[in-house]
Amino acid sequence: MLIVFLGPPGAGKGTQASRVSAKYGMPKISTGDMLREAVAAGSDLGQRVASIMDAGVLVDDATMAQVVRERLLKEDVTTGAILDGYPRTRVQAEGFDALLAGTRHGSVDLVVFLDVPEDRLVERLSNRRACPSCGANFQLDLNPPAKAGVCDRCGAGLVQREDDSEQVVRDRLEVYRRQTEPLVAYYRDHGVLERFDGADSIGDVFVAIDEVISRAVRA
Ligand code: AMP
Repeated sequence: MLIVFLGPPGAGKGTQASRVSAKYGMPKISTGDMLREAVAAGSDLGQRVASIMDAGVLVDDATMAQVVRERLLKEDVTTGAILDGYPRTRVQAEGFDALLAGTRHGSVDLVVFLDVPEDRLVERLSNRRACPSCGANFQLDLNPPAKAGVCDRCGAGLVQREDDSEQVVRDRLEVYRRQTEPLVAYYRDHGVLERFDGADSIGDVFVAIDEVISRAVRA
């Protein structure tokens, strides 16, 4: 089963996708995390994308298609995967459909669309702190770490992502509106979109998503 998490930056895609991944034992494929790891490792890919990511704009579709194609071939992707942050443009969505059609996955089974009003997103992203070591995210207001500045999961020091500063956040939301939001209609037309109110609490959103996924798994 392939599940895509769709929604604006700060909607909670990473948090919810991690929970679903843990509950259903499916790997979470976060293209943002993969790119950040490449930047941290200083690989060719990382060097190419670092300034693009800091500016809050999108990496080109061909590069992203290759990153995802290679990741789907890894051993842990057996019965399914959870995509967090991909596809993000119409070209990526169409390319992804074409790629899947030639694999045992066939097609995207479910798109979890997390809808959150824009003013809440700016507030959330500027309160976000991330762990550069394990990728965990915290909200200083709603979901703070037990010890200030320290990751609960692995003990590394938390940072504010370069692209979570207020001006870059506004630019990323504009990129989302222009390039990614059209995928809501794309997947609705394909009959696989489920909308969730991402402004609810983390626990309530998860319960709602879990209900839909457990039904889909049983079907
Ligand atoms: P995220 O953590 O998903 O917000 O991604 C952080 C940054 O990585 C984005 O602002 C883009 O620069 C880049 N990125 C991640 N996923 C994609 C994608 N599917 N297409 C293009 N760029 C991406």
